[in-house]
Amino acid sequence: MPRRTTRQIHVGSVAVGGDAPVSVQSMTTTKTADVDGTLAQIYALAAAGCDIVRCTCNEEPAAEGLAQIVPRSPVPIVADIHFQYKLALAALEAGVQALRLNPGNIRKPEHVKQVAREAKDRGVPIRIGVNAGSLDPDIAERHGGATPEALVASAQRELAYFAEVGFDDVKISVKSSNVPVMIDAYRLLSETVDIPLHLGVTEAGPLPGGLVKSTAGIATLLSEGIGDTIRFSLTADPVEEAKAGRQLLEALGLRERKGLDLIACPSCGRAEVDVIRVAREAQDALEARKIPLQVAVMGCVVNGPGEARDADLGIAAGRGKGHLFVRGKVVRVVPEADMVAALVDEAERIVAEGIDARLAAADENAEAIAAATREELLQIQGRDANHSEERVARIREIADDPGC
Ligand code: SF4
Repeated sequence: MPRRTTRQIHVGSVAVGGDAPVSVQSMTTTKTADVDGTLAQIYALAAAGCDIVRCTCNEEPAAEGLAQIVPRSPVPIVADIHFQYKLALAALEAGVQALRLNPGNIRKPEHVKQVAREAKDRGVPIRIGVNAGSLDPDIAERHGGATPEALVASAQRELAYFAEVGFDDVKISVKSSNVPVMIDAYRLLSETVDIPLHLGVTEAGPLPGGLVKSTAGIATLLSEGIGDTIRFSLTADPVEEAKAGRQLLEALGLRERKGLDLIACPSCGRAEVDVIRVAREAQDALEARKIPLQVAVMGCVVNGPGEARDADLGIAAGRGKGHLFVRGKVVRVVPEADMVAALVDEAERIVAEGIDARLAAADENAEAIAAATREELLQIQGRDANHSEERVARIREIADDPGC
């Protein structure tokens, strides 16, 4: 299926546009200030095949939560901004890998340009996220409603503001809950810009209708070569969105089918092991054995088993040991040098015996050893190993600065 040529941007480690594979996105439904709950959902999304996750940044505690979430997330994080440009500045301070701005509700040009300037300085891309339900009122009036032309005009206006400050690290979405309008808007946009496009049918609703509408809109455009990243907006668990997006891309031959689903943490200030090396070794060994499980490689036992609790199996490092966990429960502790071998052994046992049998066979001391190691590491590293509190202090300064 030939794809339209677009220029490429990078959302953290994920390339979007150009010759990059079409990526899958979803959005968390937790309060972003709930760091552990949000991270657990992000890991579940990553395990379901999601490449990029968006989190709402609707208040200052959410921005502060992002400062803790970003260094521990396995996938790039996009902050979703509405109305308050200062929250965009705060999200950038929190370290997010991208912003989504709604041009329909951040309307002062100087505010848009200030955010674009700051994003440019930090090398962070922005999605211009036009939404038919919250279109700029003057544009809607001029076009007689949220027509395809009106959606494109809103995106073009935002692009012009960005151009004034020399910012072009952009992708665009022009979403509508009306499928034909959405399709026509993206077709029109794709004729006028070479910017990567994020496809979606907004507020598609619950299953099965939401799935049908999203598939109709997104698949039609993808089959015409339009679209670089996609999101199913379902009234459902976001994991269902990620699965649907992934399955659609696989069905269209735009992404490979997965057997092994290996996820690894980004290795933040708490990492006790070289996560990249261990993940690579684990991937090679598990793929060679065609293990059809979700497996997590986590840098520390302080947060690893909790963050990746939805994975079938995982291993987390700590104080020279590997803590093997099944569905979040630590079942065995092994020397660090044996981490990969133990992971492979446990994976084969799970495939042969099942998850419940392996949980029943857990070493009864393993959880207690992990808890003691967790406490020891917290004593050594402190509770703010990622210096997130410094970012939080800066976020509070932004919120209090009347000149900002
Ligand atoms: S090192 Fe620990 S806290 Fe840091 S990202 Fe990995 S598992 Fe999470």
